[in-house]
Amino acid sequence: MLTGLNIVIMGGDARYLEVIRKLNEMDAQLTLIGFDQLDQYFNGAVKADIDDIDAAKVDAIVLPANGTDENGFIETIFSNKPVKLTEEWLEKTPAHCSVYSGIGTPYLERCLRSANRELVKLFERDDLAIYNSVPTAEGTLMLVIQNTDFTIHGANVLILGLGRTGMTLARIFHALGAKVKVAARRPEHLARIAEMGLSPFHIDDLESHVGDVDICLNTIPAKVLTGKVIAKMPAQALIVDIASKPGGTDFRYAEKRGIKAILAPSLPGIVAPKTAGRIIANVLTDLLIEKFGEESEEA
Ligand code: NAP
Repeated sequence: MLTGLNIVIMGGDARYLEVIRKLNEMDAQLTLIGFDQLDQYFNGAVKADIDDIDAAKVDAIVLPANGTDENGFIETIFSNKPVKLTEEWLEKTPAHCSVYSGIGTPYLERCLRSANRELVKLFERDDLAIYNSVPTAEGTLMLVIQNTDFTIHGANVLILGLGRTGMTLARIFHALGAKVKVAARRPEHLARIAEMGLSPFHIDDLESHVGDVDICLNTIPAKVLTGKVIAKMPAQALIVDIASKPGGTDFRYAEKRGIKAILAPSLPGIVAPKTAGRIIANVLTDLLIEKFGEESEEA
């Protein structure tokens, strides 16, 4: 349980309703900033403005998946009021106060470093990334079905990267009967791809493997689908790039060649906000119990 723990939830999208629900169930004392237009009522959780809070009593702060923007503003889809996280405000929190964000942004990292507070980047954790790979792969599948006029079964599918999401995509498209090739750079990844019954090749050889591709799914956050590679693809190929912005595709050149290329960010929050919210909530709860569990139960 998280009894007595003062947690401030600052902004967030529909996924964060699951986070509020779970932390409320765990008996944390919740203050919600940026939720003034939310109709749903959570017994015991208090809606507030950042200026109304006594920062000295805050044990943990939960930020949206994308942290803050470059000026420190927080995305608040349930409010029109701007919410800004500042170094001065963070300095007033107790030294043990931790900030939980999906990712770190330059502003956030700078701010937390100066205030000397811990920043936990949830989306960098293996457990969360692996759980999240499921709604991400389902969202990718949805986009592929919507943007093709042939079955995935029997299609030549090329997956770039065998990280946490690449592996899930490879499994799902293989299970649907696609002919799956996966590009990676580490020998152990190439070995794993072969072990999975798929066709491995080194990412450096990408140009020579795209000639017959029907669907190319990129998970590598680096420019891998360059103009030179795209030039070798069939004109009717589909590219879905799920890597973090700006993706790994030369979108300008793809468009020039008439190849449909889609940059698809934030799929879990779009296709399965409830599941994606539960994933964040469960990992966050485990971390809070690990850090504060005993003290909070004594409180
Ligand atoms: P990950 O586990 O780190 O996998 C990334 C893969 O890319 C790894 O296999 C890595 O290989 C490879 N890679 C990185 N840089 C490379 C380079 N320069 N050349 C060749 N290979 C390279 O990450 P993930 O969790 O699967 O996520 C993949 C991307 O998708 C990230 O950008 C993430 O932010 C994004 N994402 C998007 C969504 C969405 O909804 N669109 C959802 C989840 C994740 P090594 O192991 O050899 O470094």
